[in-house]
Amino acid sequence: MRPVVVLGATGSIGHQALAVADRLGMEVTAVAARRGSDELLEIALARPDALVGVVAPTKAEREHFESSLGGRARFGPETLVELASMAGSVVVNGIVGSAGLPASVAALDAGNRLALANKESLVAGGPIVAAALERGGGELIPVDSEHSALHQCLVGEERSAVRRIVLTASGGPFRGMTGEQLEAVTVEEALAHPTWKMGPRITIDSATLMNKAFEVIEAHHLFGFGYDSIDVVVHPESVVHALVEFSDGSLKAHLGEPDMQIPIQYALTEPERRPGPAGPFSLVGRHLTFESPDRDAFPCLGLGYEAGRLGGSAPTVLNAADEVAVHSFLDGKIGFSSIAVVVERTLADVEVRSLETLDDVRAIDREARSVATAHLGASC
Ligand code: MG
Repeated sequence: MRPVVVLGATGSIGHQALAVADRLGMEVTAVAARRGSDELLEIALARPDALVGVVAPTKAEREHFESSLGGRARFGPETLVELASMAGSVVVNGIVGSAGLPASVAALDAGNRLALANKESLVAGGPIVAAALERGGGELIPVDSEHSALHQCLVGEERSAVRRIVLTASGGPFRGMTGEQLEAVTVEEALAHPTWKMGPRITIDSATLMNKAFEVIEAHHLFGFGYDSIDVVVHPESVVHALVEFSDGSLKAHLGEPDMQIPIQYALTEPERRPGPAGPFSLVGRHLTFESPDRDAFPCLGLGYEAGRLGGSAPTVLNAADEVAVHSFLDGKIGFSSIAVVVERTLADVEVRSLETLDDVRAIDREARSVATAHLGASC
């Protein structure tokens, strides 16, 4: 098995990727995280041969890591690109935010397998990631549960025989609420996701359905289907992760417990399967329900389709505006319903351009953040 590089090693995906790699006996040759935390140091000390990247260390963290790890410590944002480029690796990209994009491009340029959990790579930089995949001859295997499910449903199938693909959404903690009720929800309520345990931004994005909007855009870039062929259905039990409907009327669905170790492991071992952490699955006694998403109460889903159809830089703007708005909500500065308002206004204000380079993405991202920040004051 190929050696594994885990970027975002102290986050939710990173933790689970390390657990999977350890369980499967895969060698971890590098780990990286944003901060030089005790947790990262512990991970590093448990793997004496691994390179260790710290993206944004304080002075004290840098000194501590240098004295503890010597020459295997690396510092600064470029460390992600260096570690992602280690040839012959499986690179798990579990970084949060658009900081993960250059690492995705570097991994694919180096011909590596990219096990992608960083949504922003495809949402903010879809065309650039696609070009790197083509150039470097690497592999892109999604870690996101819905996309892993789609990947598995599509194995051995002709794309031309696909009528549509369907992503399921848990609906988040506010499923069934009206737009008016949503105005009063708190940060604590938004952070209490019913089925998946994740980091704070993605948990808020799940509550607004922006996460699903991003996943629609991801699916477009991963599998090449147009937006009219990508549907979303709310499925609160999170047992069916995705479905593919074929032109002959057959459907394939992918089911499994909502445990991220399952798609992470598949991305590491694909096309092989290894024994996993979940016990035998029983359908007996399960009630699986499905409903349409409430697009009026959760306007972020529609904004995602709109940005996806506009193409070019519009999804980059969607992502940047959402990141600004979500952080502002988490800081208690804007209400839950204002997240969609800030995103909508920012999308309307920033002109759509084509994306050719990482610098284009950075420039659009900066512009969108400043426009979104200006809208924060007006929205609360
Ligand atoms: Mg997902």
